[in-house]
Amino acid sequence: MSEPSIFTRILQGEIPATIVAETERVFAIQDIAPQAKVHLLVIPKTPYRDVPELAAADPALLAEMVQVASELAAEHADGDFRLLFNTGSGAGQTVFHVHAHVLAGGDLGEKSL
Ligand code: 5GP
Repeated sequence: MSEPSIFTRILQGEIPATIVAETERVFAIQDIAPQAKVHLLVIPKTPYRDVPELAAADPALLAEMVQVASELAAEHADGDFRLLFNTGSGAGQTVFHVHAHVLAGGDLGEKSL
């Protein structure tokens, strides 16, 4: 079996983190290196590798992540937010346990489209 991801280790209490939300299937933490005034990570407890794998296996769980992100943006900022899934190392994914970056709080800069 592969090693538990850093997020699984946080969930199990082995590594400290600020947990800002938790449901039966999802939890959310503050990013350790925030790139915006509000930078949270919404993470399913089941460690799917990336968002395509998650979407194919359990679309309701992906929808729950979006719902939690939306609630957190309302709680921690004015409700507006950017949701980002880095997918693959070439796109900047460094933790291969799917997570949504929730960026909010204004001054998010230009969209890199
Ligand atoms: P990725 O680059 O995979 O899209 O995002 C991984 C994110 O996890 C990064 O923004 C990084 O700062 C965050 N991160 C990595 N290790 C830890 C940790 O131990 N604690 C917390 N709270 N965030 C982490």
